[in-house]
Amino acid sequence: MIKLEAAELAAKIKEEVKAEIERGIRPGLAAVRVGDDPASAVYVKNKIRACEEVGIHSEHHALPDSTTTSELLDLIRTLNARDDVDGILTQLPLPAHVNETAIIEAIDPAKDVDGFHPVNAGKLAMGRPVFVPCTPAGIMELLDDRGIEIRGANACVVGRSQIVGRPMAQLLLQRDATVTICHSRTRDLAAVTRTAELLVVAIGRSGLIGREHIKPGAIVIDVGMNRVSDPDQVRSLFGAEAEKRLEILAKRGATLVGDVNPSEAAEVAGMLTPVPGGVGLLTVAMLMKNTLRAAKLRRA
Ligand code: NAP
Repeated sequence: MIKLEAAELAAKIKEEVKAEIERGIRPGLAAVRVGDDPASAVYVKNKIRACEEVGIHSEHHALPDSTTTSELLDLIRTLNARDDVDGILTQLPLPAHVNETAIIEAIDPAKDVDGFHPVNAGKLAMGRPVFVPCTPAGIMELLDDRGIEIRGANACVVGRSQIVGRPMAQLLLQRDATVTICHSRTRDLAAVTRTAELLVVAIGRSGLIGREHIKPGAIVIDVGMNRVSDPDQVRSLFGAEAEKRLEILAKRGATLVGDVNPSEAAEVAGMLTPVPGGVGLLTVAMLMKNTLRAAKLRRA
């Protein structure tokens, strides 16, 4: 089985963004985070670091958990009005008391570099994408980079979130794949996923997709990012590679695991994206690309 490592491609995308910025455009990105969810803090830190690498001006608005919807809306309106801000991202999930939909819809679609605004989701659904959510956009870059044939392929997307599953299915459809979407109410998930030559999994359940879900030779894209701290679960997921993961677990208290069982997938899949080292790296790279695009479109 081939491991679809994404580090090189992510670096190449960021290099291209950097080179264009060096030719004279200086985009600005505002990242908004509410509360102290440790995973969100890490994601935003990685995005800010990537901005520094490529030369995007960034600012980080880290707001307390007590922030109200109306306070957040005020901030979004200010960022919408500022000419030096080309892209606005609000790190999800927002705390339960904040109206997430109202916040997403308040962002100017021209600055919606996450591609979550209904205008951008609608344009994507109509086959006229402007800003595409970064994770599925990164997966398409990876498939193209490896020369994987999408046209006519039987593709299955497990998960129907606005962030990953739905836009992923739209992008594959646009490229002429035959797309099936599965979710928590799908009857006999394995029977459906086993028909897919291209299987994209975005569920949020560590190692749920096992050998019985995968067609022999299939290309499997694992979007899941789950923290696992139980040594027995690590042993059952990583087989021969468990020792390395157990060391990480001992050092950091948890290790990152996808939605696909990596040792079982290795027995049947043709290709698999690793976690970490796969889709996550591309998500950040595509955010850089979207922010540059926003700056170019706004200044055109
Ligand atoms: P989400 O909003 O929670 O959506 C999960 C989807 O999975 C839902 O559509 C749900 O179905 C479906 N699902 C849940 N349990 C299932 C089951 N047993 N069988 C079949 N389908 C099931 O999650 P998300 O935001 O899409 O994220 C999914 C995973 O990707 C998470 O691990 C997240 O951390 C990760 N992620 C990674 C990146 C990255 O850059 N690598 C980016 C975003 C997300 P229903 O709709 O029926 O509830």
